[in-house]
Amino acid sequence: MSAPGPASDYFGARLSFDRGVPGRRAVDVPRWDSEPAPLPDARLLRDSVRLPEMSQGELVRYYTELSARNYGIDSGTYPLGSCTMKYNPKVDDLVASLPGLAAAHPLAPAAEVQGTLRTLLELRRGLGEITGLGGVSLAPAAGAQGELAGVLMITRALEDRGELAQRRRILVPDSAHGTNPATAAMAGFTVTQIPTAADGSMDRAVIESELDGSVAAVMVTVPNTLGLWERGIEEVAGLIHDAGAYLYGDGANLNAIMGRVRYGDLGFDVVHLNLHKSFSTPHGGGGPGAGPVCCSEELAPYLPTPVVTEGGDGVVRLTVPERTIGRMQQFGGNVGVLIRAYAYMRALGLDGLRAVSGQAVLNANYLRVLMHGHYDLPYDRPVLHEVVFSGSRQRREHGVPTYDIAKRLIDHGFHPPTVYFPLIVEEALMIEPTETEPPEAIEALAAAMIAIAAEAEADPETLHGAPWTAPIGRLDEATAARRPVLRWQPGTTEG
Ligand SMILES: *Cc1c(COP(=O)(O)O)cnc(C)c1O
Repeated sequence: MSAPGPASDYFGARLSFDRGVPGRRAVDVPRWDSEPAPLPDARLLRDSVRLPEMSQGELVRYYTELSARNYGIDSGTYPLGSCTMKYNPKVDDLVASLPGLAAAHPLAPAAEVQGTLRTLLELRRGLGEITGLGGVSLAPAAGAQGELAGVLMITRALEDRGELAQRRRILVPDSAHGTNPATAAMAGFTVTQIPTAADGSMDRAVIESELDGSVAAVMVTVPNTLGLWERGIEEVAGLIHDAGAYLYGDGANLNAIMGRVRYGDLGFDVVHLNLHKSFSTPHGGGGPGAGPVCCSEELAPYLPTPVVTEGGDGVVRLTVPERTIGRMQQFGGNVGVLIRAYAYMRALGLDGLRAVSGQAVLNANYLRVLMHGHYDLPYDRPVLHEVVFSGSRQRREHGVPTYDIAKRLIDHGFHPPTVYFPLIVEEALMIEPTETEPPEAIEALAAAMIAIAAEAEADPETLHGAPWTAPIGRLDEATAARRPVLRWQPGTTEG
């Protein structure tokens, strides 16, 4: 169903293919006054390529209208939990696109790209300081790739210790992002799940009973995906080390703690960061990312190559660590994302980064308090950067699943939050307002969520069919995934 109004009646949901009028042109091809070039054999030529025939004005309007249908962080609040969809300063894009940085060739000799390399070196040092883990490779292109690098580094270190054969297990809490167990499995380990205790932290007794000589590592997300601080993590780190295992940190939620707590000081051996969440590159949409891996001195010889290093001669180079796990991808990483992170870090400084985490925590708790009582909150304690509500009550009492609530939020003008994750929360609604939302936006989001809770009670039918205002309503997701229609056929999209 499409929104009412004369403009949309005229434009409808039709594709450009269905809009053309024969003979209209968006561009005029200049007349060719020289000798005509011979054409290929007439049998090889088509009469028509069936391109839409539109005037330039129509074409501009078509794409402008399509672009306005995209909901992004520049159009409104985008509270996807765990993904940190926040406003990223435009000046960081400007810095990353400076020709000297953007045009540097990945295979250029070090002497010719000292500016770029020194920028990366300073980023490397900055991330080392923020995490308290000074060994840093900027090479991984995503959080998941940083995780794989970290676990492969642990693998190599165990191999050098002669313990790889007996240490075959990695412990992962049941609240973890799916990439954690997937990484452990990809690296050839078996995964032992650690349950979450009633307070939202890992079950300490289970950890203690599982820790033995067969454990290679424990992967812990701090703060965890419930938005909660992992209570007693320093002591757990000690237990893990006493058992001869490593503590891996998922640092995707760094915006909750940066400038305040350092992974290295907590006892982590290796951690990955998501610069395309916390450090000024938008997450989502499948764009380029950067998942640097930061580690202790002990693990530094295993870092993925390359590592940006300053030589005694003052020249910065891309170097290969002594016992490296190898390359994660081609060249030195996604440099544009790294430059943006550097610009962000330098613009804010340590005080600014600390203010970011303070604001992220304040905003999440403001939302928690505003929505409190309207939705169930299974882990009801102050949160860090995000809060995980549950739609269980709405499902049980009114037959409205979380899916309907999320879809209805579109009609209220917001992008839905992350739903059905973490897996340990039934009907989960995982909301991360991020540090860049002003209080009015958080109040408006809470008001919409509260209004939807009232609608679930009074008018569940409306929620079952939502969204009503989007150009395309509810999809048959199974069919869309299994039998997607990816090519336009004449007549299929008319009207
Ligand atoms: C986003 C995220 C990841 C994975 O990062 P990608 O860049 O998407 O691969 C891992 N862990 C947590 C907690 C995350 O939020």
